[in-house]
Amino acid sequence: MSITAKHQILIVGGGTAGITVAARLLRKGYSNVAVIEPSDKHYYQPLWTLVGGDRPT
Ligand SMILES: Cc1cc2nc3c(=O)[nH]c(=O)nc-3n(C[C@H](O)[C@H](O)[C@H](O)COP(=O)(O)OP(=O)(O)OC[C@H]3O[C@@H](n4cnc5c(N)ncnc54)[C@H](O)[C@@H]3O)c2cc1C
Repeated sequence: MSITAKHQILIVGGGTAGITVAARLLRKGYSNVAVIEPSDKHYYQPLWTLVGGDRPT
């Protein structure tokens, strides 16, 4: 597969940090920002660690 898209800023990884940086750049006026992320889902829920640890919610 070859990709020829061009962007001003490229962020590798659309996890917590990547999404946050992309959102901040967009708010600062950068409109040509791309994120490369292999997963089509991002799971982020505060206190998720407690669910994994079998604590009452
Ligand atoms: C089970 C669990 C529960 C957690 N609970 C909490 C919580 O309750 N509160 C809290 O504050 N924090 C919690 N954390 C921690 C929090 O999720 C991490 O600190 C945070 O996600 C780290 O952000 P990151 O952007 O560095 O990494 P990630 O969010 O992991 O993002 C990295 C991204 O990079 C992508 N990637 C990897 N390799 C490549 C590649 N070669 N090319 C392109 N993309 C790539 C991955 O698919 C991923 O989407 C938890 C973590 C886990 C595992």
